[in-house]
Amino acid sequence: MASFEYNENKQRVLFGPHSLSKLPSELARLGCSKPLILTTPTKTSYVDDIATLLNGQIAGSFTRVTMHTPADVTEDALKHCQSVDADCLVSIGGGSAVGLGKALFVRTGLPHVCVPTTYAGSEMTPIVGQTENRVKTTHVDPKAIPAVVIYDVILTLTLPPKMSATSGLNAMAHAVEALYAQDGNPIASMFAIRGIQALASSLPRIVQNNDDVDARSDALLGAWFSGKCLAGVSVSLHHKLCHVLGGTFNLPHAETHAIILPHALAYLAPSIPDAMRVLAENIPNSGGNAVDGLNRLLSTLGITYSLKDLGMNEEDIDVAVATLLKKPFWSPRPLDGNLLRELLRRAWEGKPA
Ligand code: NAD
Repeated sequence: MASFEYNENKQRVLFGPHSLSKLPSELARLGCSKPLILTTPTKTSYVDDIATLLNGQIAGSFTRVTMHTPADVTEDALKHCQSVDADCLVSIGGGSAVGLGKALFVRTGLPHVCVPTTYAGSEMTPIVGQTENRVKTTHVDPKAIPAVVIYDVILTLTLPPKMSATSGLNAMAHAVEALYAQDGNPIASMFAIRGIQALASSLPRIVQNNDDVDARSDALLGAWFSGKCLAGVSVSLHHKLCHVLGGTFNLPHAETHAIILPHALAYLAPSIPDAMRVLAENIPNSGGNAVDGLNRLLSTLGITYSLKDLGMNEEDIDVAVATLLKKPFWSPRPLDGNLLRELLRRAWEGKPA
């Protein structure tokens, strides 16, 4: 076996139905009593729920969380955090809420408790994102991994089937890229395989029955394992492409990941035979071909739309490829502008990979 490096992060995770009820004792354990609650405008009810749970003992809330962590929103949230004199951060919601929590942690050092309600997996990673002037950047800050994560499956029951499916595929993409990462290792591969299995088996069950708590628990576990992959090893073509599409054209994060995943994999397939074999073994109904398996999974989940449907303009295909190639990154298969344009054209038109 080749030598490898592995970094384990100090993080406490509570998993299970109604585990949000443990938030008061977790805050007490951290020595905190004035949390600032962070969430999205459509989920302000979370603030009321948490305020009730904490007998009204919150410093305040910031409910303007926005996807892709725009810098101006973070600055507003920071001013609010300082004005209410919060002593910790509680982010509750999808990857966007978690992302703002990390951005504020970096600026304040306040303990961050995270309550993820989608499958984005950001709560497991040290990656801090920011978008400014249509450019999305990320940096790694090992300290930015949230101190506590509370996975309460009951909170995910309100996530609509389509969003559950795309968010689950966002998570699966973290696991898939770990199978061929330049700095891959057996631990990340173990998380990747378990994550892919959990998500591939649970997402169709969730789409059939949104209230299936067992399937939802499996998906949340899959998101956790896949997030560990993203935390542990570097990403390649799939994430880099989605990053450009999200940051430059403001395309929705999870949907973009769901559409791009089979296309990115089809591009890389000739250079990653071992990963393709492992994937085919772990995606049901793949018939020995991982790309076919993913195409089938997307169709079962009702993800039949294209980048065009998400609002991307045709002329943006060239812009996306140029932006992608501006910042070189490691890829198992060399990056070829013409082939990448073809990849994006198929995804834009909604053709299968
Ligand atoms: P999101 O957080 O923007 O949520 C999408 C929508 O779903 C929001 O309107 C939100 O209110 C709603 N929602 C969330 N949970 C819900 C629930 N349980 N029921 C009903 N509605 C719910 O989207 P996302 O896909 O979870 O996260 C995307 C963001 O996360 C992007 O900015 C992306 O860059 C970031 N991200 C970062 C990392 C990282 O490691 N840094 C990893 C993954 C994603």
